[in-house]
Amino acid sequence: MRICRVVMKFGGSCLKNAGAFKEVLRAIREYGGESQLVLVPSALSGVTDQLISMAKLATKKEFNDELELIIKRHVEIANDVLKQRKNSFIEKIEVMREELAKALGRVRIEGLNDSLLAFIEGFGERFSGVLLESFLNENGIRAKLVEAEDVIVTFNSYLNGLPLLEETAANVKEKIIPLLEEGMHVVVPGFICKNADGKIAVLGRGGSDFTATILAYGLKDEKSDVKVILWKDVDGLLTANPEYEEDAKLIRDISYAEAKELAFFGAKLLHPLCLIPAEKKSVPVEIRNFWRMDSDECTVISNIVEARASVVKAVSGMEKVAMITVEGEAMVSRPGTAAKLFAIMGEENVNIRMISQSSSENNITLVIDSADKDRAVEAIRRSNFFGSHWIKINVEDDVGLVSVVGAGMKNTPGIAARVCSALGKRSINIRAIAQGSSELNITLVVSRKDLREAVKAIHDEFKLSKG
Ligand code: ASP
Ligand code: MG
Repeated sequence: MRICRVVMKFGGSCLKNAGAFKEVLRAIREYGGESQLVLVPSALSGVTDQLISMAKLATKKEFNDELELIIKRHVEIANDVLKQRKNSFIEKIEVMREELAKALGRVRIEGLNDSLLAFIEGFGERFSGVLLESFLNENGIRAKLVEAEDVIVTFNSYLNGLPLLEETAANVKEKIIPLLEEGMHVVVPGFICKNADGKIAVLGRGGSDFTATILAYGLKDEKSDVKVILWKDVDGLLTANPEYEEDAKLIRDISYAEAKELAFFGAKLLHPLCLIPAEKKSVPVEIRNFWRMDSDECTVISNIVEARASVVKAVSGMEKVAMITVEGEAMVSRPGTAAKLFAIMGEENVNIRMISQSSSENNITLVIDSADKDRAVEAIRRSNFFGSHWIKINVEDDVGLVSVVGAGMKNTPGIAARVCSALGKRSINIRAIAQGSSELNITLVVSRKDLREAVKAIHDEFKLSKG
């Protein structure tokens, strides 16, 4: 018989108070069934933000009161949901509080660095992990906490870890699967990992989604079926940003490739990299609304849908972007120009959202986050080549990006034409356009004032509100 394993991640809003903790039991009962379960809690809502701002201000200010409030919030939940295990939970959280206070004290003396910031950021999940473990056992559900840093290993940074999947999978086999086979549920705090220096690090904001899929990658073997459920406070992915298109509809099925495009494009709902480990092992990922647990409105991300994908799945808009155009005949037929430009952006840590270059090669357009604009432009101007009088640098900070996503665009002629004419009909000018050769997405730059209208026009054109 095949083994079923389910990884459930609980977002911060699903763990906000005692009532929410009680709902966790229902999620386990109704969606866990007879499966082997791995439970991944995020920090209680808002806690990570609080920890980050404490870390950033710790050189200037003492944080005893704020720290006290965070601890108090956890203890209050414990008072409500724990009896026998309450004292042992309080002992554990007090030990962690000391550790956190010490780390903040070090920031005061040494200043803040990425290592200390990552260590401090992860406390929210350490607290919620211990609380969840105690809570489950209190309710007769045998559960054991396995520390994330003993399982998820990465090869790089402190703040945006990229996992070593095979090493991590070996740790899952050694440290998690034996417990599951003994009939235990396993709790692994989200977000936290260990980096190449052997230090505690984190997987980037929203990283608990990533934790869930990284663990799923390790749990999937020849004899098991694995599924991930990401419990959140929304039903799932939508056909458009609801703030631009009130008729946006839930997407029920979507392929990994399409959902990745949406996640990369800033659908805050998913960690941008979290679908990669799931896709590698064909593990389906469900996004479900924790507060409407009985509803079957949800998004399922898998590879099954690709074959019958509708042409366009979703359209999203992004507002806070700026467009930089680097222009000059001196760039024509000069190999390495684009590389130079990208290297500068890389050194400045500027994320590029879109690139387009015309085949005449006399200009390159980059779209970046508005917040990075001044830094990016200064760096370009400082450089020998781009700073010379041969090159003109043009910056427009009144633009927005529209991304049209759908696997069905591949091999379907005329989609770009329909997109452009939908905008043309509403007199919306397209300032730049790019399509990746994967043909999964077309990205357009329009005036920011037209952004909303552009999203609506494309949403209508492809009848996305009708599903
Ligand atoms: N607590 C972390 C954050 O807020 C990770 C997560 O919630 O997934 O970014
Ligand atoms: Mg969170």
